[in-house]
Amino acid sequence: AHEGILRRQSARESAARTYARALPIVPVRARGLTIEGADGSRYLDCLSGAGTLALGHNHPVVLEAIRKVLDSGAPLHVLDLATPVKDAFITELFRTLPPGLADNARVQFCGPAGTDAVEAAFKLVRAATGRTGILAFSGAYHGMTAGALEASGGAYDVRVARLPYPQDYRCPFGVGGEQGAELAARWTESVLDDPKSGVRHPAGMILEPVQGEGGVIPAPDEWMRRMRQITADRSIPLIADEVQTGVGRTGSFWAVEHSGITPDVMVLSKAIGGSLPLAVIVYRDDLDTWQPGAHAGTFRGNQLAMAAGMATLAYVRENRLAERAADLGTRMLNQLRGLAAEFDCVGDVRGRGLMIGVEVVKPEAEPLRERERERERSAGLAGEGGVLGDRDWCGGAGDLAVPGDSAGPGRPRGAGVGVGG
Ligand code: PMP
Repeated sequence: AHEGILRRQSARESAARTYARALPIVPVRARGLTIEGADGSRYLDCLSGAGTLALGHNHPVVLEAIRKVLDSGAPLHVLDLATPVKDAFITELFRTLPPGLADNARVQFCGPAGTDAVEAAFKLVRAATGRTGILAFSGAYHGMTAGALEASGGAYDVRVARLPYPQDYRCPFGVGGEQGAELAARWTESVLDDPKSGVRHPAGMILEPVQGEGGVIPAPDEWMRRMRQITADRSIPLIADEVQTGVGRTGSFWAVEHSGITPDVMVLSKAIGGSLPLAVIVYRDDLDTWQPGAHAGTFRGNQLAMAAGMATLAYVRENRLAERAADLGTRMLNQLRGLAAEFDCVGDVRGRGLMIGVEVVKPEAEPLRERERERERSAGLAGEGGVLGDRDWCGGAGDLAVPGDSAGPGRPRGAGVGVGG
């Protein structure tokens, strides 16, 4: 059966299959960290449902919550109707929200996927501001629909301008650390203030507190606070994409809590559905100016996902699993840094909580930093005209404030879209 399933699947499924498609594993059972294959082999699951499994596979509290809905005879799908299951999910979700948002937030169910919620967030801020463009960051990943993809560095012309995201190891300015973050912040400020930049009046800014697909790159807290200040000063709604960073993974329930900022919109998916498909946006209630019907989606009323999600959120909160992720993450980072010191092939170790990335490099390509800097320099990112000299890098999205303008000639550069996860 094992071989036949693998053979039929690779013959009939799309070539665009991505996640771990090359693994010759046919999972038939799973619990916690372990997956069992059709051939009887057992595996440690390092994929973790691309970040959906905050409690591992088939956690008893999640299964119990799903069974309870099934046994109660509740409708499994309710579109946008009010139900006790939805009520319990919303109540629990609001218990977890950062304090600045919990008191005056609205939630919108967006559909099964994170990318649905990203699109909804873009539409929300466009409706609320009457403006069109979106600011996003180099190396970002927000999904695979057109708007989300453009914000991830695609080429779908939905008027997204991309700005440098601070990073230490592959700093676009070649300096890293606090100085690099400061230069990235100044770049954003100067672009927004320059009448000639064409990106002065965007509808919103979207950022990941820790870039996931971009290579697990935690944003410095000070840079996050700067982005909050810069957007607040200019009345630009700030959208935090916590699809991958949420539900305790980074050592706080939501990753924006590390810097203490309150975003105007949060995009949530993956773990909030307790392994079932669920995506929402949570946002400041005064942004809720769009009309009934302005945004729809058939699969927003998935009661099983809400029940599994509610059980997961409650379990993480009650058992303080975010703190546990912080403790385990510190231990793991220390151990990995020990390995990095020992082995030349480990270029960098970084992360927050248990969201950790290790750069495996070819030692002969070291010093990597210098090589990367040289490459960036020759691409003009940190060019002779000074680090803030190359405006083309911010994306060439035309004047983001004027509906109907065609995009400018320059295309965003930077890291490509990852494989997802
Ligand atoms: N935003 C972030 C930060 C993500 O990591 C992802 C998925 N990797 C998405 C959005 C898109 O989510 P989905 O794949 O469910 O559409």
